[in-house]
Amino acid sequence: MAVQDADRCPACKKDLVRVKMLVDGNNLVMTSCANCDIRQWSRAGEQIDLSEALVEVGEHSGRRR
Ligand SMILES: [Zn+2]
Repeated sequence: MAVQDADRCPACKKDLVRVKMLVDGNNLVMTSCANCDIRQWSRAGEQIDLSEALVEVGEHSGRRR
């Protein structure tokens, strides 16, 4: 598996941590900087709001009876 180039935090220039997850066929990616405590979410390459991401995740992982 190819390792992607690590993105750098625009603020502090440290490596960003990337967490990928597959939700209902969509790739959700969380990018975070541990130094600045910034989190960004993207879906299928498009940046989305955190609230939007949580809806995506919640809809598909939070189903309970
Ligand atoms: Zn940073």
